[in-house]
Amino acid sequence: MAPSSSPWRCVVLAILAWVSCPAFPAFAPRTRTQRQVLNRPWIPWQGTLSSPQDRGVNLAPQRDAWEEFMAAMVGAPDGPSLLSLNEYEQRVSEVQVQMRQLSADGEKQVTLDQSGNAASLFGHGRLEYHQKHGRLDIAKLSGVIAFDSATGVVRVAAKTDFKTLTRFLLPHGFIPPVVPEVDTVTVGGAISGLVMESSSFRYGFVHNAVTSMDVLLANGTVVHCSRTLHPELFSALPHSYGTLGYVLSASLQAVRAEQDVLVKIREFASVEKAVDAMSVAMEDPAVDFVDGIIYGEDRAMAISATMVPKKAEDDVDMLPTVVLPDDGRFIDILGKKLEEGSTGEDVFFRMSTFDYLYRWDCDIFWSTRRVEMLGKPEVRGFLGRAFLRSKILWQFGRRARDAKEFVSHLAWQFLGGQGADLGFRPPTERIIQDLGVRLDQVPSFAKGLKAHGELPFWMCPVRVVPGEQPLFPLPDVAHIMDVACFGAVPCGGLEELHHNKGIDRWLAKFDGQKAFYSDVTFSREYLYEKYDGAKYDQLKVELDPHGVLPHLFDKVLTAEPGHEA
Ligand SMILES: Cc1cc2nc3c(=O)[nH]c(=O)nc-3n(C[C@H](O)[C@H](O)[C@H](O)COP(=O)(O)OP(=O)(O)OC[C@H]3O[C@@H](n4cnc5c(N)ncnc54)[C@H](O)[C@@H]3O)c2cc1C
Repeated sequence: MAPSSSPWRCVVLAILAWVSCPAFPAFAPRTRTQRQVLNRPWIPWQGTLSSPQDRGVNLAPQRDAWEEFMAAMVGAPDGPSLLSLNEYEQRVSEVQVQMRQLSADGEKQVTLDQSGNAASLFGHGRLEYHQKHGRLDIAKLSGVIAFDSATGVVRVAAKTDFKTLTRFLLPHGFIPPVVPEVDTVTVGGAISGLVMESSSFRYGFVHNAVTSMDVLLANGTVVHCSRTLHPELFSALPHSYGTLGYVLSASLQAVRAEQDVLVKIREFASVEKAVDAMSVAMEDPAVDFVDGIIYGEDRAMAISATMVPKKAEDDVDMLPTVVLPDDGRFIDILGKKLEEGSTGEDVFFRMSTFDYLYRWDCDIFWSTRRVEMLGKPEVRGFLGRAFLRSKILWQFGRRARDAKEFVSHLAWQFLGGQGADLGFRPPTERIIQDLGVRLDQVPSFAKGLKAHGELPFWMCPVRVVPGEQPLFPLPDVAHIMDVACFGAVPCGGLEELHHNKGIDRWLAKFDGQKAFYSDVTFSREYLYEKYDGAKYDQLKVELDPHGVLPHLFDKVLTAEPGHEA
């Protein structure tokens, strides 16, 4: 069966097979650590909500056959967890041969095979990737190569996704300092892009915790670099998106972790107050994670979390334990928890560290919100982690969206605005943007962002480590705030990329930064000025003089020349 040829059919078949043949081991319901410990089989039609003591201990649920099957079916199989040094070296040699062969073809530039990834770039690079690039396949570079449990330094192959790495580290009492919540993101992709999560207020971006890397250059040579060994190359990689060289492996300094997390949430009547509360939390040495949500001008939430030891079996503390993905969408859980508490008060609950780190993964933030069924605990318990994860949701969501948009655009073309009276949904423009501004700018920035972005917005403070990302120059402040905007906004009758352009123009007013994974509608001149194009060109000449890899701005720009923001 071709893994991605007809995913919908495959899923339905797989679900039917699973439901009808529960005894067939390959399709047996996934492991549910806690329920098994309690000797209580999980029964879909009875739902999953039980007493808090029954749930929540989910140390680092390992992959099972069902999860692996689903991933393989969407064409993005999960890689192995371990890779011996011998195997790694052997595979690096194979990749070098591949690169030399690809670069010998002077007609085609080289880019990376990104099968199954959610986060591939949206710009022209993506189109060209499909049409005219040679594809370097580094999929076999997956797995942990070495781990020192005394120091927490882990060496990992570049194509390893962070969920696999986290599953490896957690039982040893460690986690990566920054764990991207979208579970397709790989170690190499996170270094060459810019990745942050709620621990970033302390640790910065993923690449700030990297101590050394092996990098494949366009001419097929491999260079080992660090802050002291080939430091120019080491610092050139972040925000280069595979245009200066490819990360083959990286050593990261992991941090100590507890098995549970105590989450504190509080709602405020203004964005400013929520940002102030987040700033206070960031100063507290006991706090491990800080993020927030903007629901509107007069409603925002500060969220902080602290790792705590695992709850003892006989612990009768009445704090509710949230279990994901079963209990509901995380965004809905936050709403419910606030309703249970009294307004203006701190509300607390517990989660396993693993569930916390992947709290947004189960719905790619709130992108499943239009599918009511996917919010129901019974349905969620049934689908479980094998389905409710970015890797799967992205693939199905993208196809469903394409189909819906096709109909909407057709209806708009023939019926215009009147199509709505006949039940046709207006066409929409996809907005997926991570935008960086100073903390004091957040309230006014968010206010104007509403004109083009769909609420809610996610807030994630990031520590600025000076000098570590020359291709992403940051202001001289201790922290910036990532304001992320995910959704779809009506665009009938508007020029192409109207809303993404509006967002870029608004960001430019604040002199803010954006990660290039999403639509980039700026002019080339603006990018050159703002993202140190001169430095990039100098690096390009040194590292890829024959232009075997695409130029960064060619790869990421979305708007046609003359139609920029
Ligand atoms: C829906 C969505 C939500 C997101 N949310 C967040 C978020 O909340 N926080 C956040 O920090 N980021 C977020 N991202 C961005 C994402 O983390 C980055 O785009 C990251 O670079 C993706 O890594 P990947 O491994 O999936 O790479 P891919 O999608 O495979 O590739 C992305 C780019 O990195 C290059 N690349 C990949 N691997 C390597 C390598 N080994 N060496 C050199 N270059 C490489 C590719 O050539 C490509 O240009 C989001 C993206 C999407 C689509």
